[in-house]
Order: sequence, then structure tokens, then C-alpha cells
Amino acid sequence: MQPKSLTPESFPSAGLVAYFSMEIAINPAMPTYSGGLGVLAGDTLRSAADLGVPLVAITLLHRKGYFRQHLDSKGVQSEDIQAWNPADFLTEESPRVAVSVEGRTVAIRAWRYDLKGCTGHIVPIYLLDTDLDANTGWDRGLTDHLYGGDTNYRLQQEIVLGMGGARMANALGLRVNVYHMNEGHAALLTLALLESQLGGGPLGQVEAADVEVVRQKCVFTTHTPVPAGHDRFSSEQAIRILGGDRTARLEKLGCFHEGLLNMTMVALRFSRYANGVAMQHGKVSREMFPEFAIDSITNGVHAPTWISEPVQQMLDTHIPSWRRDNLYVRNAIDLPLPEVIQAHALAKEELLAEVASRAGLVLNPKVLTLGFARRAATYKRASLLFTDPERLLKIATEAGGLQILYAGKAHPQDEPGKALIRQVIETAGELSNDMLRIVYLENYAWDLGALLTAGVDVWVNTPRRPYEASGTSGMKAAMNGVPSLSILDGWWIEGCIEGVTGWAIEDGANDAEEAASLYDKLQNSVVPLYLQAPEKWAHMMRTTIAFNGSYFNTNRMVTQYMRNAYYPVQLTEKARVEEAAFAS
Ligand SMILES: *Cc1c(COP(=O)(O)O)cnc(C)c1O
Repeated sequence: MQPKSLTPESFPSAGLVAYFSMEIAINPAMPTYSGGLGVLAGDTLRSAADLGVPLVAITLLHRKGYFRQHLDSKGVQSEDIQAWNPADFLTEESPRVAVSVEGRTVAIRAWRYDLKGCTGHIVPIYLLDTDLDANTGWDRGLTDHLYGGDTNYRLQQEIVLGMGGARMANALGLRVNVYHMNEGHAALLTLALLESQLGGGPLGQVEAADVEVVRQKCVFTTHTPVPAGHDRFSSEQAIRILGGDRTARLEKLGCFHEGLLNMTMVALRFSRYANGVAMQHGKVSREMFPEFAIDSITNGVHAPTWISEPVQQMLDTHIPSWRRDNLYVRNAIDLPLPEVIQAHALAKEELLAEVASRAGLVLNPKVLTLGFARRAATYKRASLLFTDPERLLKIATEAGGLQILYAGKAHPQDEPGKALIRQVIETAGELSNDMLRIVYLENYAWDLGALLTAGVDVWVNTPRRPYEASGTSGMKAAMNGVPSLSILDGWWIEGCIEGVTGWAIEDGANDAEEAASLYDKLQNSVVPLYLQAPEKWAHMMRTTIAFNGSYFNTNRMVTQYMRNAYYPVQLTEKARVEEAAFAS
């Protein structure tokens, strides 16, 4: 089966794309996501709906949600379950399907959420649920916790998501011709497709042609730049939970890596197309998995979801078509500067009001305000800004004041991440004075993320290279006219035009050197521009919206998935040979 080229004639009849993701940020009131991966999935679906792409999504229900973060005065994190009532948001579907887990039969149902785009087109999202009378107590909890439990629980969830999801799509009567795995969690859907291809016959009889039939239906996006980040399971676990025959077959088909069942390998082996999530990440992924041709499609964010109300109003006035086609945001280059300044001031006011209500601290809207919000993983180096406290205090004084807003959850089992939060909060307490105010805000989630990225003056990101596959919070900031001051990793390699859309922290040999570059840029570039050249600063906000807002959005990204992954334009033999020659 050849994938069809995307033409106006073929597109509507081409069948559906089924997008599989362990987490999806669907609605701020539904705790079905933890962070970047889920937000990206939600933004992808919102853009697919805006663009009228024939696509459905499949995920797990996460009845007990991701956790709500509480921080005590010392910065010790505790976690509360975020229970919610699915029936308040979702419609139950009638089909039931089953999967085999550890030799038990687990029944699955689906709930539907209709995501409506600005064009009126709908992308249905199916959330799988095992909380059924037919299941044992343990199995009823398999769709409760997002990233909770141990690797046994995770593999069992992945069987429900991948194999259960593929069977549910079938039971719902969906005519799917592209299965998109958003990260390796859903890779076992390929096993369900392979079994279906064999008509229930023994896996031992699988032939290369059967694998090829599955490959032609599947595409895969990897999000992880380091080997340890990939989902892996021991052979013992796989045999016990997935079954001996299936495990043996996956091993024979080359899905093991360093003795472990590796979900990235499963997905790569069974996909006709694979990509990383930024140009640099594609390259890193090709080095990690040299056997595979891994392309790059740079992430984006859903513009109307992440642009603040005041900036949206400004765009509506000057660029009415920007929602439906984000390319028009390029015309922000002509926005009147006083309106840009005013829109940002309103967004900053709204953020500072939220800080006052959450933290009881009144910040000054005139003072330069930096934002740093992301999962508290050690590679993100949240405390890099505190490497040289004296220098930071000196810069704050020169700037006539400096405000730094932090937020971020640590994974419940990530002790080093939790220690990092304690360290940031402790240092913040020691350093804060009249000139330097540092606040760590509790429970970073969708709503707070939107306020922060829109309302601060500069978005700071300090990952250790090459750990940041893409990053998307800086893109949200850019759409709101907020420049970034960041390490050249992930999307920022593509998005940084020095002094035009933000500033690069120079690569150094160690943390201390990179911290020194961070201080240099802050002291010599950011602060002087903010204090002495408000007109030039406004100029920078405007070019940031025009250049980066018009590109780092999911409207562009989904279009690239259509052209390169879902319905690739078939190259002539000559063009293919020429492109290969350029690439090598
Ligand atoms: C956008 C977003 C993220 C991802 O941002 P990164 O730049 O990848 O850290 C994570 N969490 C929330 C709540 C977000 O809104």
C-alpha cells in the first residue's frame, strides 16, 4: 500500500489519522496531562481541528489525574490526587474491547470528547477506561494514574493504550489508514496491527510482508534525546506481562536494545516514517539510532490557546485571519509599537495580580521580570541563575530591581528534582531583598503556564545540552512578544536571532562558564535595553511575535506532518536520488 499524495481530491477520502498519546492536555479542568508532551498533543489536536484534518486521538482516561503540587515553606513538595468526574466532560461510547495482561483478560471502554476547532471542524478524542465490573480491582485501576506506579504498571498501561486503542478504533468503526505514535508509549499498537494482519494466526508465522503491511500504516515521533529516557522493560517483565510468544517475536524482529524491550525500537521497526521534534533533535536521534532514517519536524504551540487576551485583541484588530492561518502572524511586523507595549503591560498586570493572590507578594510592574517554569528535572538546571549570588545581586541593583518567577513540579519519585525545588526556594529566601525578588509559585499547570509565558519580560531556559529535545514554553512566550534568554538547545537553535528575538547563552565547558555567559547577557544586553531603550525593547517584542509566532505554532507543524508523515508527496526517482545526494 503506497501512502497517497495530499491533493484536494484525495484528502477528504484518504481515511483517518489516529493519533495515540499517553497524555493529552485537552481542557484546563481535566488533569489528563503532566507537562510538555501532553500540552504538545493537545495543541496538535487543536490545530488539526482548526485545519480540518481528518484525525481522531486515543489516550487513557487517567481517572485520578496527574498530581496537584503543594510546597511547604521549606520547599518540600507533597502531592495530592486530582480526582475528577469524567461524565462531566465526556460521553461514554458503547463498544467494549479486551486485551490480555499478565494472562488476564482486561475489558476496556472508551469515553469521547469532541474538540472543536475555530473552523467548526471536530477532532474526537477517545479516552480508554478499564474501570469496569468485568475487571478485577487491580485492573480497574490501570487507567487511573498518569506516570504513577512502577514499570510493571507502566507496561500494563501501554498494552491498554496501544493494543486496546488499536482494537477500540476498529470497534468504533473508524477507518484508519495512518497510526501516529506520539512517543513510544503507544508502540504496542503495532503488535495489535500485526496480529490483526495475521488474522489471529500464531505470531511465529509472521513474514516480512506482514511487517511491511503494518509499517506502511504507522508513523512515529520520538521526543527523547538520551538513551535513558526511552521506555524499556526487562525480558522477564515482558514475558510475564505481554506473554512469551509476543516477547520472543518482538525480540526476533529487533525490538530489543541492550537486552531490554525498548519501545522506541518497537516504534521505529514498525514505522514507515519517524521524526524528532526539532532540527537538532532529529540529528541527535539519527546518531542514537543510526539504522533508521529519522526526519525532523519542529514542534509548535497552538497560538489562540497560548496568546494572552490583550495580544489576541491586538491581532484581531490588525490581522483578522491569524487564528485560521498562523502564517499571517508574520504581518505583526507592522503592528503599532504603542499597542504592543500596552498589550504586554496588561498581560504583565494580570500575571502580577495572580502572583499577589497566590503568594501574597506585591511585585512592581515596572521592574524587569524573568520567568523560569518547567519540570524540576536536574538537567534543566533551575538553579544556574544562582551560581554567583553576588553577581546576580549586583545586576539586580544596576537594573533598579529584578523579579524572578519560578514554577515547576518534580515527578513524585524524582528525589533529585525535589531537592532542586528545595534548593531554589531556600536560595530565593536567602537572596531576596529590596532589589531582588524571587518567587516560586506552586502547582505549575496549564493556567499558570499561560499567565507566566505571556506576562514576564524575558523567558529564561538553561537546559544542559542536548537534553532539551525541543521545549515549547519559549514558543508560547514568543507569541506573546516575550523574548527568550536561553541555551542553544532544542527549538532555540532555530528560533534565536541574537538581539532580534532574544539572546543566546553561549555554550561553555561546564555549568560555571554557562552561568557566566548568562550573567554577561543579562548585564550587558538585557538590562541596558530594558532600562535605556524602551522603544527598541518594544521593537524586539514585535519582531519576536512576527518571526517566531508565525513559525513555532502547531498550525505550521500539523501541516508539516500532513506533507511529510501522513500523506507524503511522492518524489520522482530522480528527485529522490538528488535529495539523498544533498543529504549525504
Ligand atoms: C508548555 C508547557 C510545558 C512544556 O514546556 P517546556 O518548555 O518543554 O518546559 C510544560 N508544562 C506546562 C504546564 C506547559 O504549559
